[in-house]
Amino acid sequence: MTCPCGSGKDYKQCCGLYIEGNEDAPTPEALMRSRYTAYTRNNLDYIEKTMRGEALERFDRSRGEGVEWIQLTVLFAEEKGDEGTVQFIATFRYQGKEQMMHEVSSFERIQGKWYYTKGIVS
Ligand SMILES: [Zn+2]
Repeated sequence: MTCPCGSGKDYKQCCGLYIEGNEDAPTPEALMRSRYTAYTRNNLDYIEKTMRGEALERFDRSRGEGVEWIQLTVLFAEEKGDEGTVQFIATFRYQGKEQMMHEVSSFERIQGKWYYTKGIVS
């Protein structure tokens, strides 16, 4: 299966390494891609365990119900020390309508692992 994150790689050699394997995502972008892929597979446990801080406090498992994820486009990704930023557009279908979400996500590396900490949707 081709990975839903759009990398063109096989799922098992891409986000599957982090979602189902025991590997930690090495960069904020890899973590963000794997979180997108987890959403497409409705794996909310993975979503929850890869968050900290504000993002985790605001997490609502019922949000996103009925959403069909179509495509991920990463526009920008960087890491500076233990902080990372990823800007992306996610395309999804909800109630028969195709929509786009543009988000700037913040990441933090805590004890060697990257976590999603905050998202600003515009
Ligand atoms: Zn992937």
